[in-house]
This record gives sequence, C-alpha cells and structure tokens, in this order.
Amino acid sequence: MELFPKYNMKVIFLDIDGVVCLNGVNINSILLDRIKKITLATDSKVVISSSWRNCKKSMIRICSILKDNDIGMAGETLDLPLADNIWEDRVEEILEWVDRKAPCNWVAIDDLPLHQLYKETNLEIRSNILPHFVECDIFEGIQDYHVNYCIEFLGIK
Ligand SMILES: [Mg+2]
Repeated sequence: MELFPKYNMKVIFLDIDGVVCLNGVNINSILLDRIKKITLATDSKVVISSSWRNCKKSMIRICSILKDNDIGMAGETLDLPLADNIWEDRVEEILEWVDRKAPCNWVAIDDLPLHQLYKETNLEIRSNILPHFVECDIFEGIQDYHVNYCIEFLGIK
C-alpha cells in the first residue's frame, strides 16, 4: 500500500541559484514563497536538483529552510556524471529520478535552458518533455507567471 502515494506524487525539481537564490548565498524569501504557493496549490513536493545537493552543509541548510517554511521535500536527484556539460547532466539526473520514482506529474524549475537540449531530438520526445521545463531568468528567479504555469501544468489538488 505504500506504493500508492509514490505514484500519486507530483514533484518540483528545484534548482536553487537563479531560482530562489539570486546572490549565491541567501535564499530569497519572496521567491521561496512562490515555490510554496505551487506546492500548496498542487499538493506537490520538492526534489532538489541544484548542485547545492552536492555540498552537505548547503543541503542541511536548504532542507531546514524548506522545513521551516512548510515546503514538503521528496529528496534529491542523483549526481550522475553522464555528460560533458552541466545542463545535459541535470536533465539526465532529473529523468533518472522520474524513471525510478514515477511521479504522476513533474516540473523542473531552473535558470539553465534545459529545454534547449531537445532541439535536435525527435518531435515526439521534444513535445513530451518540453512542457515540464520551466526556465527562470538568472537575475530574477521564479516569477508569478512561472508559478501560474506550474500550477496549471501540475493541476490543482
Ligand atoms: Mg541555477
């Protein structure tokens, strides 16, 4: 019976820098509130896909900030050294988590142009995967229109 919630889970793959952190150090509370708004509206949980997960101290900090803000967490992606560049790695790490955990829906919020990877792939893969990627401006982070898109895409609870 424990499997049921797993397959019923909606997930937000969350990058930190350029999404909820604009100075490389502090989590911006206005931007974090926008993530919280998505989790509350859609009953989704956060999976950390940011490179912050590779530093134990940073992960402890982000986990405690999420907890203090009542934002549910469902883990982190694996660090898979698969490709030559960071955004290709990130996409592979996200897709590996999706394959393994089978969330019922997901978005990946990042300031890297993750969707650019699929420019050259076939149209079917591209059209399936593209709507999941939400690109933020590195200097602005997550904005209300991203929030609205994520809520619509993930579906209200
Ligand atoms: Mg980033």
